[in-house]
Amino acid sequence: MSTSAPIDVRTLAVELQSLGVRTRAESRPPREELRAGGAGPSDAGFIWIEGTPLTVPVHGDYVSSSPYELVLGSNGHARRGTLYRDGEEVGRVTMPPRPKIYELETADGVPYWKIALMHMDSLASTVMQRCVYWGTHEQCHFCAIGTSLQAGRTVPTKTPEMLAEVAEAAARLDGAKDVTLTTGTPNRTDRGAAYMAKCAAAIRNRSGLPVQVQIEPPDEFSWFEHLAESGVEALGLHLETFDEEILARIAPGKHAQGVDHYLAAWDAAVEVFGHGQVSTYLIIGLGESVESIVAGCKAAIDRGVYPFVVPLRPGPGSILSGEAPPDPERVQAVYDAVAPLIADADMLSQNARAGCVRCQACSALSTFERLHGGGRSGIEPPTAD
Ligand code: SF4
Repeated sequence: MSTSAPIDVRTLAVELQSLGVRTRAESRPPREELRAGGAGPSDAGFIWIEGTPLTVPVHGDYVSSSPYELVLGSNGHARRGTLYRDGEEVGRVTMPPRPKIYELETADGVPYWKIALMHMDSLASTVMQRCVYWGTHEQCHFCAIGTSLQAGRTVPTKTPEMLAEVAEAAARLDGAKDVTLTTGTPNRTDRGAAYMAKCAAAIRNRSGLPVQVQIEPPDEFSWFEHLAESGVEALGLHLETFDEEILARIAPGKHAQGVDHYLAAWDAAVEVFGHGQVSTYLIIGLGESVESIVAGCKAAIDRGVYPFVVPLRPGPGSILSGEAPPDPERVQAVYDAVAPLIADADMLSQNARAGCVRCQACSALSTFERLHGGGRSGIEPPTAD
């Protein structure tokens, strides 16, 4: 293997997140350190590459044809390695230290890593594994929520007490700065808002950490006040695409709620949580043009909603598992256009109080925000095993 010319960090981040990285079995991290399955777009491992934290797909079928390969074990360090592109060295890679909470379990023997996972300095959990859409014609095609439970990687429902216990330990032992709570949709009324509020309140009381909750829009928007009163500081209401025809095909359950219901929910949520503290995932690679995605991002930004744009990760167990991820050049074109819109709207990610927007490791958008005075800061690459 040889050394190639330096590759710029934005191109690298986009290519890695779109194409994934191959790992050899002998240098693959333990399964609890890879996010396989879970609600919404998922499937990732966490690495630092040349000082930038990133989550990168490591599981999907498409990863086997990625030009990138990660070889861990440099100089006898199990958590350091080298990244290659088509056999040429790209840079040194470090994995974050194994979270200390992964060695702990509850009094009745549930390992903490089955309750919540560390995403860099953010603790994240899928609170309810059950979703009314899963296994029906309404299932979101990009989602793999049913696979984690099947594989024994989680428990069906996390209780407020369990989450509060893990959050307190994560803040104390691993320096967690916030908590991200996502969930399957348990019903067609409050969409889980009441239960998520209980979980957030328990976490807040025991750990003091700010919480982001991600749910589908509930029937009554008064739930947003209730969530805020329970200590929730940021809200994710994820539409995934503005294109009605694509939404109907890719996320029929969400389409049944209607784009207008989402937009009304965003407006009501921004009133409660504030400008830039409400966010939506938007997925590149579902069939929308770059122009259409950028227009969707602008529509979200105009309403005070942060567009958390990510490339499609066709993860194992999802309906789209056999699909290819989007061309990195298309992803980069979206980020090039959206980052200045975010900056102009005074919505840069470092102002987010909690959740995916604060963490940013699943999107390369923050590396583009850096050109406009934004971007993720405040966490340092690990220096030792
Ligand atoms: S609403 Fe869609 S993305 Fe969310 S858990 Fe259910 S199927 Fe998955």
